[in-house]
Amino acid sequence: MIIQCAYKFRFYPTPTQKRQLALEFGHARYVWNWALETRTKAYQAQGESSNTISLSRQLTALKKTQCPWLSEATASCHTQKLRDQDTAFRNFFAGRAKYPRFKKRHHTQSVRYQLDQRHVAKNFNAESKLLKLPKLGRVKLRWSRGIEGIPKMVTVSQAPAGRYFVSLTCEVEILPLPVRRNAIGVDVGVKDVVITSEGWKSGAPKYTYHYARQLKMAQRRLSKKKKGSQRRRQQQQRVARIHARITDSRRDFLHQQSSKIVNENQVICLEDLNIQGMLRNRRLSKAIADCGLYELRRQMEYKAAWYGREVLIVDRWAPTSKTCSACGAVQESMPLKVRAWACECGATHDRDINAAKNILFFGTAGSAGTSKARGAVKPPRAVA
Ligand SMILES: [Zn+2]
Repeated sequence: MIIQCAYKFRFYPTPTQKRQLALEFGHARYVWNWALETRTKAYQAQGESSNTISLSRQLTALKKTQCPWLSEATASCHTQKLRDQDTAFRNFFAGRAKYPRFKKRHHTQSVRYQLDQRHVAKNFNAESKLLKLPKLGRVKLRWSRGIEGIPKMVTVSQAPAGRYFVSLTCEVEILPLPVRRNAIGVDVGVKDVVITSEGWKSGAPKYTYHYARQLKMAQRRLSKKKKGSQRRRQQQQRVARIHARITDSRRDFLHQQSSKIVNENQVICLEDLNIQGMLRNRRLSKAIADCGLYELRRQMEYKAAWYGREVLIVDRWAPTSKTCSACGAVQESMPLKVRAWACECGATHDRDINAAKNILFFGTAGSAGTSKARGAVKPPRAVA
């Protein structure tokens, strides 16, 4: 199977590159908004999407007449913007997405370059850390990881916090792993990000607690700021940054875990996401764990598809915490603070490992080890 793999790196532009990028972002945004307006008018008039080729022609005409300054930016980036918008419209017409929106200055900015595959060796070499882009020249990345394949597409973006990133999209061939005969139940938590039915606990990345404390304090400060004030907006950004750091470090950690689990197991059972719990966000640690569950499920599902594994999702109302995995007796309640407990049948349980065992049990309807039984399992739904 050939898959698209994206590698994202931090990018440190020189002052000249920053100026050129500001221009590229601005012009690309202008092209997007101009095309959107043109298309919206056509959509309102005829109820259908405009043709990309004609838009592209109109854009060329626009550059020659009203907006000659558009030629200061890279033309291929504009073509890419039109293509992106095409995809956005296709998603809209297929009911997968909302109507495309105008790009604003204070949102994430991005431009996409297509690397000419005939001359790619001149512009890209992962070993010598070389990446050259039109009008920018050589760009300095923090090459934080190795790359497989040759990039076809390069996206340069700037997040609202001001940081620049470069994302390289490569085509990589993936071979399915040899089939195995085992199944595993996986639970996620805050103290241990991943807990398996085999009694394995992953621990957490180093910074989780630190950030969780920071987040708590930042949120407390936010709640004291006056609504609509400048300071409140700044504090909101601070909270968002801490959230981003937590999700980043957990995501990296989850990648290690999900690769390991997909490697070692044929059938993987996960609990369904507690969306309502996430929205309420009353218990911070629970919300963070749920984010982890969402991300773990996403990673598991695509990695399982790559390697020929199966992911089963257990109904979130299944009493995974309250059930004794040894005898099946269901306890009346199991408050979150209970970390270990003993059942009347004599079995003693670690709360999380017991839950993981039950996830495996419910997922495979009590017949762990075969990939056919699905009794108590809802068919996996697409993650929104
Ligand atoms: Zn029991």
